[in-house]
Amino acid sequence: MEVIKVTPRGYCYGVVDAMKLARKAAQDPSTPRPIYIIGLIVHNRFAVQELSDMGVITLDGPDRASILEQVTEGTVIFTAHGVSPLVKRRAAERGLHVIDATCPDVTKTHDIVRAWVAQGYKVLYIGKKGHPEPEGVVGEAPDDVYLVETESDLDTLPAAFLAAEKLAVTTQTTLSQWDTQRLVNTIQARYPQVVVQNEICRATQLRQEAIASQARGADLTIVVGDPRSNNTNRLVQVAEEIAHSPAIRVQRLKDLDPAALRGKHRVAVTSGASTPSQITREVIQFVEGFDKGAEATPQPLAGPAADAPGATPVRGEGTAPSAHPRD
Ligand code: SF4
Repeated sequence: MEVIKVTPRGYCYGVVDAMKLARKAAQDPSTPRPIYIIGLIVHNRFAVQELSDMGVITLDGPDRASILEQVTEGTVIFTAHGVSPLVKRRAAERGLHVIDATCPDVTKTHDIVRAWVAQGYKVLYIGKKGHPEPEGVVGEAPDDVYLVETESDLDTLPAAFLAAEKLAVTTQTTLSQWDTQRLVNTIQARYPQVVVQNEICRATQLRQEAIASQARGADLTIVVGDPRSNNTNRLVQVAEEIAHSPAIRVQRLKDLDPAALRGKHRVAVTSGASTPSQITREVIQFVEGFDKGAEATPQPLAGPAADAPGATPVRGEGTAPSAHPRD
């Protein structure tokens, strides 16, 4: 069996930096306790577990503002997805020590939206409903920013948006490039005056383009990642719709049914930007050994997590050949 290790894959720089900040906070005795993360640091349960083992408490809930209501003392860590000004203000009012792990690419979108609104624009923000990143960006100016997930959302635009002479569009960082372009085309056809700024981040673009080209012709594509990870789910979609490869998502090796590999000659493996390298490495090693008589119940490998401090990086994971300085 030929195993295509799709490159680049796995942790992006925004996730690596967020994890480093959280680990550093946990190891620093001067960080006010308790230490809370407002939401999941990244959408991966294994990354969350690692921080929990270090004494960092992850709080989850319907939105960042209501999660923060649970905290009365200590330190709060804002995740790579970013938060709204309201959440920042409430944290300051409560006297909490704040560590902001917002990815710089997400911060850039906040800055763009704020600048547009200050110039009198109404903003259509293409993103996923219920995801924390849109919550933060729309929260910059809830009356002036409207979340659009699908074309049908355009039919319910408030009157102020329909009448806007100054209209702009921007996007969540982890969307499918192809879906987003289709939606942007529709918006441009309806509102020719619209200004467009695509904010799908470079890490997301590279991982989608990699799977679109490298998984083409694969009998199966395995995407390793958490079901709540938007970029992981988009990679499954890109494999199926763009590379035309049947695709499955597994959270870890234990979830991989060996029956899925039987009769397959070319299998591509990739992972979401929030998936620890060790978990993907286990899946790759199992698939590589599969037709060498190693078919058995998948077992995790021993050894340190590849993303742990001092661990050897896995080639291709988070090592995209990239024009982005930190990808
Ligand atoms: S996926 Fe993109 S925006 Fe999100 S943390 Fe990674 S680099 Fe930043």
